[in-house]
Amino acid sequence: MARYREAVCRLCRREGVKLFLKGQRCLTDKCAIEKRNFAPGQHGKSRRPKPLGYGLQLREKQKVRRLYGILENQFRSYYEKAASRKGITGENLLFLLERRLDNTVYRLGFAPSRASARQLVRHSHVLVNGRKVNIPSFQVAPGQEIALKEASRQLASVQRSLDLTGGRGVPPWLALDRENLKARVVSLPKREDVNFPIQEQMIVELYSK
Ligand code: SF4
Repeated sequence: MARYREAVCRLCRREGVKLFLKGQRCLTDKCAIEKRNFAPGQHGKSRRPKPLGYGLQLREKQKVRRLYGILENQFRSYYEKAASRKGITGENLLFLLERRLDNTVYRLGFAPSRASARQLVRHSHVLVNGRKVNIPSFQVAPGQEIALKEASRQLASVQRSLDLTGGRGVPPWLALDRENLKARVVSLPKREDVNFPIQEQMIVELYSK
């Protein structure tokens, strides 16, 4: 499966915001945004006019796409799915992104970043209703149980992540049993559960041009 393989801190610097793509490093003063909060590249420091209209919408879309670690084609197909559903398209889009299995594993604190969570899923450490699911884009649904495989619970990376993310909090649509490293999806996510500043309407405006 294709994915972005370049230095991810450049993505945060391009968007001018912390996207928390590197786990623990993002919380330290080694974070590139703390040290060099300007766009990457030779002309990154030169003053550029603030984006307006289309430029703003494009940046918002790129920010969200990069936050969830999704390439353009798949992101557009999420938009199309969101637009075909009942309700507010922008919110539907965010709910589809939130319900991805890799995002769910990240939100539960089993991994320090969405990229590490994706790796946990890809390497078959994650069970849904007791069955191995190694597809990061798998959509979780209310009633399902998300757990780590017995042998994976002692992974040092998982334990480190739980220590690191303990204070981050688990969104109310997930009920975590921290001792047994499993959780239940208790409901669908709500807009207020997406705790990152996103103006999803801009993405809808961009794609509906
Ligand atoms: Fe972004 Fe994290 Fe890199 Fe900081 S350390 S720039 S938040 S990926």
